[in-house]
Amino acid sequence: MLYIEPVPISKRVSISDIVIEVTRRCNMNCCHCMRGEPQNIDMDLNYVRALFKQIDMISNITLSGGEPSLVPHILTSIIDIAKEEEVEIDSFYIATNAKVVTDEFMKALIKWWLFCRDNGSVAISSDDYHENIDEDNIRKLEAFRFVEKRNEDCHYNHGQGLIYEGRAAEYFAASHIMELKEIDYE
Ligand code: SF4
Repeated sequence: MLYIEPVPISKRVSISDIVIEVTRRCNMNCCHCMRGEPQNIDMDLNYVRALFKQIDMISNITLSGGEPSLVPHILTSIIDIAKEEEVEIDSFYIATNAKVVTDEFMKALIKWWLFCRDNGSVAISSDDYHENIDEDNIRKLEAFRFVEKRNEDCHYNHGQGLIYEGRAAEYFAASHIMELKEIDYE
């Protein structure tokens, strides 16, 4: 069990941006994924509590993965911990591949929207490399005004603009470097 000495609220820090990877699991297998192969690991909430004990305010929190829709219980538990540890959060950001949209995930999104003072946004990842998404799932999510489909016109230009880590490194880095070498700079 992780234990970190609680810090008095007056000595806690404010954070402008923080990213918490809520799970390493994913239900897609995109070739441009910077995360690499998925792992059957979810965020241990003890770490979130230990982290929040040091913080009094977060401007923006990104809840990333893996695929966050697979762990709605973790998404809601992070709000519970923030309340218990008196951490104020201005806004949130979640990107989902929308392959699975459960009621629990929808409820978790509503809870985040209600919890954050300036609210936040949810992006549905959609580009050449993600699997096609069930239109019903998109309709369900887009019923919320804070949900948007993103990257619709993004085709990554043969890998340029990607972060070359994980599978993106394996699939695109070599060809990208070759393309750069072929550019005539004179
Ligand atoms: S890019 Fe996103 S949806 Fe695709 S495999 Fe990686 S984490 Fe999953």
